[in-house]
Parts: sequence; structure tokens; C-alpha cells
Amino acid sequence: MAKQQRILVVDDSATIRTTIRKELEAGGYLVDEAADGISALAKATGQETPDCITLDVEMPRLDGFATCRKLREPRYARFFAHHPGGQVPVIFVTGLDNLDGRVKGFQLGATDFIAKPFNRGEILSAVDRVLRPESIYQHMTALVVDDSLLIRNIVGQCLQKFGLTVLEAADGREAMALLGGHTSSIDIVITDFNMPEVNGDQLCRHLRSELGMRHVPVLFLTAADEQDTIIDLFKAGATDYVTKPFVQEELEARVRVHLEARKLFSQLFDEVRTRKKAEEELLAQAGELQRLNEKLQDQAVKDGLTGLYNHRHFQEELQRAFGLARRHGQELSCILTDLDHFKQVNDTFGHPFGDFVLKGFSKILQKMARKTDTVARYGGEEFVLLLPNTSVQGAMILADRIRKSAGDHLYDDGTNSRKVTASMGIASLKANAPQEARDLLEFADQALYRSKKEGRNRVTLYEAGNGQDPD
Ligand code: GH3
Ligand code: MG
Ligand code: MG
Repeated sequence: MAKQQRILVVDDSATIRTTIRKELEAGGYLVDEAADGISALAKATGQETPDCITLDVEMPRLDGFATCRKLREPRYARFFAHHPGGQVPVIFVTGLDNLDGRVKGFQLGATDFIAKPFNRGEILSAVDRVLRPESIYQHMTALVVDDSLLIRNIVGQCLQKFGLTVLEAADGREAMALLGGHTSSIDIVITDFNMPEVNGDQLCRHLRSELGMRHVPVLFLTAADEQDTIIDLFKAGATDYVTKPFVQEELEARVRVHLEARKLFSQLFDEVRTRKKAEEELLAQAGELQRLNEKLQDQAVKDGLTGLYNHRHFQEELQRAFGLARRHGQELSCILTDLDHFKQVNDTFGHPFGDFVLKGFSKILQKMARKTDTVARYGGEEFVLLLPNTSVQGAMILADRIRKSAGDHLYDDGTNSRKVTASMGIASLKANAPQEARDLLEFADQALYRSKKEGRNRVTLYEAGNGQDPD
């Protein structure tokens, strides 16, 4: 196994040192700490020399710039002989991030600059870039298209240094065939301009339009005498170009710029997608919550078996309608109805068939009542209708219509069938002058009692003092 690399973290804040330490240790590095420039120099030149240093700028005793200047002095070089030019990589991590500072830092030989507050993973990425360049673009793929094997090799080596997977094609046609199966996995295309059969610009047009690869960087390798074709390259969709013969560093630098942009782009894309997904989930949850709420509200006022309003809601509605009718001098009638010999229905056909009849009867009531009427299950096999703006005669007509219709209806659940009649009692505000809402109901109940007593399957209007009282 390769020797673990050592990072010296220099910062006067213990909290920041700990944050950086944790991040780097998680990335597999060994971490030393120093709280100022003087102790940093001592540590850097001690028993274990660091492979990289992260350096704060503002520190007591010796600040970051001065520390870096000293590290670059020839007398320190011997401690870092294993680094190119005897220089240990230094990454400034500073809250004082401005152009002057950066210029000064780079003049002093800084490798990188990171602004505080830094994001999670940022320090580790910077250190990785320096010490493990092969890990930077580990999951990215490049397509190199050139008819010269030599150029393909040079470019390929340069890309492999950063950990890129490299695919090769010797001309535009081969590249097109290759791209066909890899459109979503190619992160950069580096192509020669002048090739046999299919040229670089034709290839570029093809991948931009036909293959829909609009955001993949396409970098051209052009010869010096092709300078006048540069504009055409960009028209074809080129992102950038390098003139042959090129310096490897230039190609590397350009490739890195475009790959960083691509990384950023896909991060943003992922972020947007995640956010959109979260939003959709939230919306779905909100919708579900609303449905649940509505269901709950519904359950609070409705009867579970028949779906009609329940007793409690009817009582509230009665109070409200009674008050309203009295205030505006309007009529209000009440029909109370009870199924006849219902116990027998249950006893003969069983409780489920009884339920079936109750549901069927409810439907008839609902169908025959107006929208403004309130239809409720008062309890058991007893139902009530509250009819605003309806005279006692109107209520009588409706009640009799319901009675006939319900009495004629054959309740048939496929196993049993049976007709069931209903008895009704009616009271109204103007005809019976009840003092309170509950008196209206009480009068209707007395009239219903009379219907039962007189043989059932009939409608009775309440009349005061006519012996309707069960006592
Ligand atoms: P009457 O004509 O005098 O009203 O006689 P009845 O048999 O209809 O009256 P009674 O009060 O003696 O019996 C009412 C029956 O209604 C008894 C009860 O089991 C039944 N019942 C009440 N609620 C339900 C229900 O939700 N489902 C079913 N299947 N039956 C019910
Ligand atoms: Mg009954
Ligand atoms: Mg009853």
C-alpha cells in the first residue's frame, strides 16, 4: 500500500483546524496541526515533513504570507527535496480573499486559494487536486478523435493523468459510431479538425444536433495554417481549440477548465433535479394532507353507513336554520320518518340486509329532497328532513311522495328482496309556532308517533292538543 500522505493544517482557530482535519482524515490523509506560522515552520521541517500545507493568512506571530515566503527560501528546499523544485504545495485558506491577496499568494508560490467560509469537501478536493491528480476526473470519460496515432497517444496520456477514461477514434466516422452508444457518458470530446472522410466540424455538428449533446465541451486541435477556419469551428459548435503543436500544459489547462465547468453544470443539474423532486413530494404530501383533512371533516359531520349528515350535525343545522327562519319571518318545516317494522327486516333477513335497506332508503330521501334541504340520519332507522322556506303543505306533499316512492321500492341485494314502508310526522314553524328549535322536532316526533299508532305507512301533521302526546 502507498504511504499515507501527510498534510500540515495551519490556522489559529482550533475549530477550523478540527474541521479541516476531519475532512482530510476522512479522505485518507494524515494530519498535523499548527496554530501559527512559527510553529508551522518548525513542524514542516521536523521529523515528518508534510506533503502539502493548508495555510491561514491572518495569524499571530508569523502570518500566512510570511510563512509561505520563508518556506520558499532555498534553505528550506532541502526539506522538500521530494517535491518538484523543492517546493511543498501550499494551499491558502483565507477569509481575506481578494485579488491583491491572491496575486501576492501566487507570487509567493501558492498552489491554490480557498476562501473562508469554505464548503464541505472543498479543502479535500483542493488537496486531492495537488496530491492525487489522477482522482480528480475519475468518473469522467473523454473521446479523442485524430487520424494520427501519435497525437491520440499524447492527448490520451495527458487526460489519463487526471484519471479520465479515454476512448479513441481515428476519424469522424468512427467517432460518430462510437458516440452513438455513449452519448450520455462522454464528458469531453477532443477532436482533430482535418481528417479523412468526416471532418471535425462535421462531427461537431452531428453530435450537437443529431445526438443532442449540446452541453458536452468539444475542443478542437487545429494546425497553425487552419487559423482562418476558427470562426467556422465555433459556428459548428466548438467550445474551444488548441493549435498544434501544443504544449501539454496548455491542453491540460484548457481541458481542466471545461471539465470543471461540466462538473459544476452536472452538480447544478443534480441539485435542480433533487429540489424539483423534493418540491413534488411536498406538493403530493400537501395534497394528501388536504384530502385527509377533508375526509376527517366529512367524517365529523356524516353518518358512516348512509353518508347522510349525522345526528350531531343535524342538531347544529336545526339551531341555525330555526334562528334564521325566525329572524327573517320565513317558514321552516321538519319531516321525521321511521321505517316500519324494521326489527322484523333485521330478524328475517339479517343485519347486513337491514343495512342495505337503510342505505337504499337514504338514497331515496336524498334524491327527493332539494339541495337546500338538510337530510340526516337521526338514529337507527329514523331519519329527518329539515326544509327551509317550505310550508307545512309543501312538506306534506314531499313527505307523501317519499312515502309512496320508498314504500314501492323493492330492496333487493341479490340474495333477499323486500319492500319496507315508512311512517312520517311533520311540524312547521308557522303552523305550530314552536318556542324553540327542539320543540319543532318534538312536534314532528309526536306526529310520527301518531302515524305509527294509526297503522304506519302514513304521514301525519302535528296539531296541538289533539292527543298526539304518547302519554
Ligand atoms: P316500528 O314500526 O314501530 O318502528 O317498529 P320497528 O321494528 O321499526 O322499531 P324498533 O324500534 O322496534 O326496531 C328498530 C330496529 O332497527 C332495531 C334495530 O336493530 C334496528 N337498527 C337500528 N340501527 C340499525 C342499523 O344501523 N342497521 C341495522 N341493520 N339495523 C338497525
Ligand atoms: Mg321503526
Ligand atoms: Mg325506531
